[in-house]
Amino acid sequence: MRILFLQDTIDSESIGVAYVSAVLKEAGHNTELFILSLERDIDSRIREFSPDIIAFSIVVTKQRFYERLGGYIKSRFPDIKIVAGGPFITLEPKFVNKGFIDFGIIGEGEEAVVELVNSIESKSSIDGIKNLVFKRDNELIVNELRPLVEDIDRLPLPDRGLYLKYNSFRNLTVKRFISGRGCPYSCNFCFTRRFRDMYHNKGKYVRKHSVERVCEEIERLRSVSVVNTVHFSDDIFFTNKEWITKFYDIYPKRIGIPFQCNLTASIIDEDVVRLLKEAGLRGVGIGLESGNEEIRKSVLNKRFSNDEIKRVAGLLHKYGIEIYTYNMIALPKESIDDALMTLELNREMRVGITQCNISIPFEGLPLTDTAIDDGLLDSEGIASEMDKRPETPIIKVEHPEQFERLFLLFPFLVKTRLKIRTIKWLLRMRLNFIYRILHRITYIWNMKRYYDISLISGFKIFLDIKKGERYLKEFFKRCR
Ligand code: SF4
Repeated sequence: MRILFLQDTIDSESIGVAYVSAVLKEAGHNTELFILSLERDIDSRIREFSPDIIAFSIVVTKQRFYERLGGYIKSRFPDIKIVAGGPFITLEPKFVNKGFIDFGIIGEGEEAVVELVNSIESKSSIDGIKNLVFKRDNELIVNELRPLVEDIDRLPLPDRGLYLKYNSFRNLTVKRFISGRGCPYSCNFCFTRRFRDMYHNKGKYVRKHSVERVCEEIERLRSVSVVNTVHFSDDIFFTNKEWITKFYDIYPKRIGIPFQCNLTASIIDEDVVRLLKEAGLRGVGIGLESGNEEIRKSVLNKRFSNDEIKRVAGLLHKYGIEIYTYNMIALPKESIDDALMTLELNREMRVGITQCNISIPFEGLPLTDTAIDDGLLDSEGIASEMDKRPETPIIKVEHPEQFERLFLLFPFLVKTRLKIRTIKWLLRMRLNFIYRILHRITYIWNMKRYYDISLISGFKIFLDIKKGERYLKEFFKRCR
């Protein structure tokens, strides 16, 4: 069968889609991917490929877009079946009720997709396919979850070729990889927590590929495109000391390319840092989220202290490793002073690149439930709140306009020595237009640093993204 994946923008490649494509090809099917923001006439492209099935991986916050896209596809190509998977369908299987989706896949989808496509091809029953969601006689049927794949090495290497036909991916110097699946932590705002609950008694949730297999994947990609830096996008890279020791023995000799990964403060000690540095570690991403210890602990369930994180930052600097942080503002009961503590802590840690987001309350998570109970969020309106601009607070906070300005200025302010009282004054000024420009300049600067490219190349990436966003807005209007 012919399966076409559609993705909205070039934000990043979906390794999940690449895995699903790989298992489908292994089962003898033909796959293709189109990125809408890079394709000018999607209708002709669909006609050219002539798929039997169109598939989306829907990430949380993009459901509205895919809902419109699905409606658009169904109105023009009613005979093509639509299959949707990804984190959003897993969290919200009832989305399949929307009508445009023929089949939803929840959880890790490789085996379920192959069974589904084979059944569609042979016109056999789909009833017993685990992880499948579908509608029958207006009733939503959510089949049981199958156990997790225990040995993830038995899955074929992800099909990177899907993305490499686009220059934007082929020429990226930093390429993403995943060395394992699952996260051992339970942060109150993160949907990983719900996935782990779903998979209770369905096998080990945190799994690693063998180091040999990780190296093989990097070697394959390096043989067909540029890979100057490896980015391990695992939720948390270091979950197992034995694995890290093996990685230390094999990776530098076999690959020898600098790498970045995500770690959490509570597991970083000098031995780990030294080992990883000698293996080629160049940068570490840390989910700091809040600079207010109490909020971090009680609202977010992140269990490390400010002293601990400063100690870790000192260690990373000692070994010349760059720090990237992920931060969230406009949290339940957070004041602007609390949010400024987050800014200050980033400064004290001397971070290289910061990312600051407005907190997003996903349904069914403790942070969201608390915000609803405290009257800071309307449970009925969560979905529509997701359509707001990225700088607009979703949870009710005092002075939301100051949070918007802080969101725009955060990565810039982290790099300045401006006094907190001056920053507070800036946050009261209605200068959003200027702050937006500063936000974009900082973004381009960070691109340059992160990808180790020229400012002009950073600017080009920014323009590509903006062009894609504009195109999608137009496309979105046509889908209404
Ligand atoms: S450590 Fe990261 S991935 Fe794991 S639960 Fe917390 S936020 Fe989610």
